[in-house]
Amino acid sequence: MLLSEVGYARPASVDDAVRLLAENDGARPLAGGQTIVNVMKARAAAPDVLVDLADLDDLRTIAKTGDGGLELGAMATYSQVITSADVKDVRPILADVAAQIADVQVRNRGTVGGNICSNDPTNHLPPVMVAAGATMTIVGTGGEREVSAGEFFLGVYMTAVGPGELLTKVTLPALDGAGDGFAAITIGADGTCIVNAAATVSGGEAEVALGCVSATPVLLTAAAEDEAVREAVGAAAIDPPSDVHGSADYRRHLAAVVAARAVADAKEGS
Ligand SMILES: Cc1cc2nc3c(=O)[nH]c(=O)nc-3n(C[C@H](O)[C@H](O)[C@H](O)COP(=O)(O)OP(=O)(O)OC[C@H]3O[C@@H](n4cnc5c(N)ncnc54)[C@H](O)[C@@H]3O)c2cc1C
Repeated sequence: MLLSEVGYARPASVDDAVRLLAENDGARPLAGGQTIVNVMKARAAAPDVLVDLADLDDLRTIAKTGDGGLELGAMATYSQVITSADVKDVRPILADVAAQIADVQVRNRGTVGGNICSNDPTNHLPPVMVAAGATMTIVGTGGEREVSAGEFFLGVYMTAVGPGELLTKVTLPALDGAGDGFAAITIGADGTCIVNAAATVSGGEAEVALGCVSATPVLLTAAAEDEAVREAVGAAAIDPPSDVHGSADYRRHLAAVVAARAVADAKEGS
């Protein structure tokens, strides 16, 4: 299907991108285009102007921070994440999870920023960011602000990035002896997640973020033991959706399974 007519701008700086977004209510950032172009083709959204972030090289950087953490530019692609020595050094779970997303074409184009800004509840990265305690940096005409991952995801396709704003980077703390894990049940190999879970385990305590069971990742804390994690998922009284891929009851059951697997995976790495 052909796209509706849409304006196109390709700014050379973050300031210009923010100005273009702020000047036009109907303007939307274009990152890898792997979600937004499909959404436009399906006529589910019709932005007036696409502000293409492709020339903003500052947003593609992946680097260690001074205190041993990791900064991911919003325009870093999954392929960059998978091959980054800094990611492998600081939070290798990101490379492991990025390698599970779709296929090589999507991984070459899709970006960290696009993945979390679209906040499709079945996406891989939102639960990872929540469990890992990431911080998002958002820029607007009024300046820069930081939002924790726990406060970033507001609803299906809704995040703390407001009109006229841009996510510029995501910062993750150093592991410092903790371990990260991830587990998912997908539709076929490397397919869309039916239920997923990310876990960060430190000193016998697990932070577990469940994906696909609510509009935003559901964060739980439990002792890092199989039974305790399953009980915490049960106590969270999640109300997942039912669809052709699984009933609510099946997703509730899977949530406990993947949470326990993610914690076991994190313990191996800690
Ligand atoms: C066949 C296929 C299978 C897929 N399977 C999976 C999967 O299993 N798991 C998974 O996680 N994803 C999957 N995806 C989605 C893919 O990961 C997308 O790349 C991702 O969701 C969006 O990233 P993008 O860079 O393409 O963003 P875009 O599509 O360009 O943008 C997505 C949204 O985010 C906004 N946005 C982008 N960057 C910024 C920014 N810096 N600041 C503010 N807003 C911004 C855009 O305006 C838009 O609303 C799949 C995609 C395809 C085509």
